[in-house]
Amino acid sequence: MAESKIAIVTGGNRGIGFEVCRQLTKLGFLVILTARDAIKGLAAAKEIAKSTGLYVDFFKVDVTLQADIDGLKKHLISKYGRVDVLINNAGILPDNPNPGIFSHPSIFETSIDVIDSAIRTNVYGSILMCQAVVPLMKSNNYGRIVNVSSTMGQLSTIDGGTPGYRISKVALNAVTRVVAGDLEGTNILCNSVSPGWVRTAMGGADANRSAEEGAKEIVSFATLADGGPNGGFFRDGVQIEW
Ligand code: NAP
Repeated sequence: MAESKIAIVTGGNRGIGFEVCRQLTKLGFLVILTARDAIKGLAAAKEIAKSTGLYVDFFKVDVTLQADIDGLKKHLISKYGRVDVLINNAGILPDNPNPGIFSHPSIFETSIDVIDSAIRTNVYGSILMCQAVVPLMKSNNYGRIVNVSSTMGQLSTIDGGTPGYRISKVALNAVTRVVAGDLEGTNILCNSVSPGWVRTAMGGADANRSAEEGAKEIVSFATLADGGPNGGFFRDGVQIEW
């Protein structure tokens, strides 16, 4: 039997990340579900293992903590020796005081601390994860990196309000381009994917998509065939403007 591909998902304990873990597990990936809260993360991994009858690994990773990411890297090297897929899903929308209720605060009423926290998690967290796993991907000349972005960070249509989240997702898209550029000519593909407006704690109850629907496109970019797109921004299977 072929060896399972190894997939790492950040923020896998709930929402879109949880559903990506579930779908990848069902597709035959050995998923390492990561979460910043070990109790919640372990419970989520157990839930998927129970519902699928398949093994799911868990590792505690707060993407803002270099020490956690160093620990994950050691775990990957000692237990698996490789990584095939990285889903940079962990994200925060710290601008709105109440999660899921969009108040769209203006840049003039948003503190630098709020904007900084969005950038630390959504941007630096994704960079740190790429720095940890790309050397392992390079050793097999295979990798698929999906940066979970948002059309709220689509620079060509960007509007006012919610500056921390918007600016961090624009920067995350830049990370996609820079990573893809540095990996040009390899079989490691890095793309930004917008899942649409999804019913999660972040998206709120009025969102028009289920977590299953939101996760689907992310999973399709995690399973791109060789020679697939590199360095693009996609929504609903279509490449969109930055
Ligand atoms: P969610 O339900 O709020 O889940 C966010 C996840 O990120 C949680 O697991 C959370 O962990 C984790 N997280 C936050 N900070 C972290 C950190 N420092 N280290 C590790 N994990 C951390 O949101 P979601 O809707 O599933 O969002 C997932 C991704 O999709 C995000 O990148 C978001 O920007 C993007 N997105 C969502 C929508 C939407 O409509 N929902 C639309 C476009 C893009 P805790 O449980 O510990 O907080």
